[in-house]
Amino acid sequence: MSDLLESSIPCNLCGATSIEVLSTVDRERKYLRTVICKACGLIWTDPRPDEQQLRSYYERSYRLKYKGTYAPKLKHVYRAGRVAADRFSIIRKHIKKGDRIIDIGSGGGEFVYLLRQLHYNARGIEPNEGYAAYSKKEYNIEIYSGFVQDFEMESGLTYDVATMFHVLEHMENPFGVLLKLKKLIAPDGRLLIEVPNAEATCQAPANRFHRAHLYNFNNATLSRLGIKAGFEILDTALSNDGANIMIFFRNAPGPGKTVDGRIEGNCNDISRLIRRHTAWRHFASGYPYSRFIDKAVRLVKEGNAIRGFSCGRDILNYYYKRWISAL
Ligand SMILES: [Zn+2]
Repeated sequence: MSDLLESSIPCNLCGATSIEVLSTVDRERKYLRTVICKACGLIWTDPRPDEQQLRSYYERSYRLKYKGTYAPKLKHVYRAGRVAADRFSIIRKHIKKGDRIIDIGSGGGEFVYLLRQLHYNARGIEPNEGYAAYSKKEYNIEIYSGFVQDFEMESGLTYDVATMFHVLEHMENPFGVLLKLKKLIAPDGRLLIEVPNAEATCQAPANRFHRAHLYNFNNATLSRLGIKAGFEILDTALSNDGANIMIFFRNAPGPGKTVDGRIEGNCNDISRLIRRHTAWRHFASGYPYSRFIDKAVRLVKEGNAIRGFSCGRDILNYYYKRWISAL
């Protein structure tokens, strides 16, 4: 497929409308049209559901659909607790004691709870009603139940650090969200964004596009979007399997500069990479087998790790205490 077309939704990074269709199916083999901007390489879903449908989906249906529950099960808490510890290891060099930290898309609250245990002044924002209520009650932490777009800033109050793990790809207007974060974060403060990598080849090609992801970024498009919103890049990293991109931004004092969103060659590079990543190449790469084994091992370990616990708080208290003492 290489149709040259116009998108009904202008590119969120460069404003262009000239696109190429990358795919017409999602990972459940249902119709989902995914397009890439010819001028910059940003990828998005077109058409997409209207804003009201999207909001009610994230408030109520999203976790239910993908995790089968309104509140996290114990195995989810344990898994998210381990991820929270890994995330802290990554961000610790960019934060200092006493920092005011806001975790946007705080899910079951495990990362905010860990930060509180480590004496950071942390709070979260979570649109899913079940997960927000659970995290407030279970860990007695401060969670704004709603969307970051609607989050009202207390006057004059800014955050030293904002984190956003696997959130920006779900947003209808990622650039607008970054502009809001620029106001929410203190001048010189930090923003960490982690998103799935559009160039990853560790997953099966048929699993690449996900209905819940309205946007797909590579390092170049995420970096440029941050710079356009008035941030500077401090650090970038790829996860070991290449599945995720992490970028640390610094909130450069003053308004964002006028930045050209176009990125020459990026569309062709991504498009070529995706088309070359065929099912045959994927199964010949060995990735599917190692991922299958890793998952089986993980499920057994998780089953053992949560045995004997009856609530999420006890699980996190037990594992965080051990983990913090080893820091
Ligand atoms: Zn573009």
